[in-house]
Amino acid sequence: MGIAALHPSYRAIIRANQSTQTDMLITRRLEFDAGHRIPNHNSQCKHLHGHRYAIEITLSGDVITNEGLSEQGMVMDFTDVKRIAKEKLVDAWDHAFLVYRGDKPVCDFLASLPNHKTVILNVVPTAENLAQAAFDILDPAYQDTYGNHLRIERVRLYETPNNWADCVRG
Ligand SMILES: [Zn+2]
Repeated sequence: MGIAALHPSYRAIIRANQSTQTDMLITRRLEFDAGHRIPNHNSQCKHLHGHRYAIEITLSGDVITNEGLSEQGMVMDFTDVKRIAKEKLVDAWDHAFLVYRGDKPVCDFLASLPNHKTVILNVVPTAENLAQAAFDILDPAYQDTYGNHLRIERVRLYETPNNWADCVRG
């Protein structure tokens, strides 16, 4: 049954629902490979190993309505979400070893390897800490170009397909 067939009062309700206040969120997913270890973990994670990590970056903002803009109808062009994430974070972490500054044996070992790609962190590289670190790096990187209140709302960091951490704007 189409809207035209409904009683007029029902049509009014449908129109009202269509103008309900909503927020728009967009998410871009990227993947990267990295090594890490959790030095004090009481099980497997204390060993040097790697993951196929995935990061999902969620942005909020008003949908851009400027007539004729390439971004008309978007919160941000997904291509730009990806480009910024790569420039600021993913290219630095991909195929790197993520090591806690306090993990001295591994820091010393990695420093002994010529030109090794190492990312030294102030925190133990758990999914939670990596999600927080990524959020802190990316938060200033997404600039509101069109006055549409663009900002990062959440970074979801997958250590495995079944294990992830969400760092959400408080
Ligand atoms: Zn691990």
